[in-house]
Amino acid sequence: MYLHGTSKVNESGHLEIGGCDTVQLKEEYGTPLYIVDETLVRKRAREYMDAFRASGLKFQVAYASKAFSVTAMCALAEQEGLSLDVVSDGELYTALQAGFPTERIHFHGNNKTPNEIEMALDARIGCFVVDNLIELQMLQAMAGERNQQVNILLRVTPGVEAHTHEYISTGQTDSKFGFDIGNGAALEAIERAVKQPNLKLLGLHSHIGSQIFEVEGFQMAVERVAAFAKEVKSKLNVVFPVVNLGGGFGIRYFEGDTPLQVSQYVKAITDGVKLHFAGIAEELPEIWVEPGRSMVGEAGTTLYTVGAIKNIPGVRKYVSVDGGMTDNPRPALYDSKYEAMLANRANEATEETVSIAGKACESGDMLIWDLDLPQVESGDLLAVSCTGAYNYSMASNYNRIRRPAVVFVQNGESDLVVRRESNEDIVRNDIIPARMSKQTINS
Ligand SMILES: *Cc1c(COP(=O)(O)O)cnc(C)c1O
Repeated sequence: MYLHGTSKVNESGHLEIGGCDTVQLKEEYGTPLYIVDETLVRKRAREYMDAFRASGLKFQVAYASKAFSVTAMCALAEQEGLSLDVVSDGELYTALQAGFPTERIHFHGNNKTPNEIEMALDARIGCFVVDNLIELQMLQAMAGERNQQVNILLRVTPGVEAHTHEYISTGQTDSKFGFDIGNGAALEAIERAVKQPNLKLLGLHSHIGSQIFEVEGFQMAVERVAAFAKEVKSKLNVVFPVVNLGGGFGIRYFEGDTPLQVSQYVKAITDGVKLHFAGIAEELPEIWVEPGRSMVGEAGTTLYTVGAIKNIPGVRKYVSVDGGMTDNPRPALYDSKYEAMLANRANEATEETVSIAGKACESGDMLIWDLDLPQVESGDLLAVSCTGAYNYSMASNYNRIRRPAVVFVQNGESDLVVRRESNEDIVRNDIIPARMSKQTINS
C-alpha cells in the first residue's frame, strides 16, 4: 500500500497516521473507522492557495464539499481560506452549522428546490451556479419578492468531456448539467440572465469531469470558454469578472494512477486564462476552481477488523471485514480499485493473495479483488487507503448497518469529528402506525 501524507510504519510494526498508532485508534474508537490525516488535507489546501497566489491573478478555491461534508471539514476549509461548494440543503446546513462565512458559499445543482433556494437566500450565500432556465426564473422571482440582489454564474457545457485519460470533444454535449455552448442555449441564457433585475451575472462555470490526470482537458475548456466569452462580448456587449473551471483533479488510489502536482493543474489553468482571456475585458477575470476529491481523498484511510475467512481451495480466499459497500460504495458502483495493508502487521512480508469482502448481503459487496497480504487471521486490522473522498459522503445504512465514526488525526492527537451511528439512530425516523401497535392488536 502506498503511504500517503503522514502515514508510516512505526517501531511496533503498526500503521501510524498523523502520529497515531492505528491499533490504538481501534482500541479507542472501534472499527470500521474513517481516519483523516488532517495535516495532508491542510497541505493540499495550501498547495492550491499558494499556486494561485503565484499566478498573480484573483482567485477563489472552493472545496467541493460533496466529497466529504461534515462540520469539522467545513471549519478546516474556513481556516485555510477556502470557499465552499454545496449542492443540497443538507450540505448548506452543514456549512451553516460550522459557521462557514456565507459569502464564500456557492450553490450548485441541476435541480435546486424552492426550499433550498429560500434557505440559501436567507443565508445570503455568495453565489448560485445557475444550471437551467427554470432555476433562473425561480431565482429571479424569489429574489425579486425579497428585494434581494443575488450573484450568479451560469453553468455551461463547453463540449469537453474528460474521462481520466481521454477527452471526448463533442459539438453538443449530452449532459444533464448546464447550458450548451455549441447549440446556442448558453448565449440565450445569458441574454435572459442579464435582463433579470435581481440577478448579477458574474460569469461562466464549467466542470469537465473527475479524476483527471492531464492538463489538456482544462486547457481545452479554458480556450472554449474564453472563445465563448469573446462571442458574448461582441454580440451582447457583456463581460464577465469571474470564470469558474470546476474540479476534477486526479489522485492516486492505485499503482496505475498518475496524478499531477496541484501546482501543475493550477498553472495550466492560470496560464490558459492569461493567454485566452487577454483583451476580452480590461482586467483578466477572477478564477475559481472547485477541487473535491484532490482535497481530501488521499488523506482518508478506513480501518476494518477482519472477521470470517472462507478459503475455496484452488479458487479464492475471501476475507470478510466489518464494513464494505455501506461505508465505501465506490468499488461496487464504479469498479474502483483500492490498496490495503494489515495495519497491525505492517512490516510483514506478503504471503498470500486474498479478496476483501464486505459484510452486506450482496455478492457485489467486494472491496478489493486479489490483494497480496501476509497470512491473514481473524482479528487482524485491515487499512484501506485513499478513502477520504466520496466514501463517508456516499455511505448508506443498507442492511441497517451503522455508519462508522470519523476521526481527524494530527501530531499524535486524534479527535472524533463524527460519532459512530447507534442502533437508536437507525430507527430514529421510523414510525409504527398506531393501528399496528401491540396495544391496539392486543386490546
Ligand atoms: C463533483 C464536482 C466537483 C468536484 O469534483 P472532484 O472530482 O471531486 O474534484 C466540482 N465541481 C462540480 C460542479 C462538481 O459537480
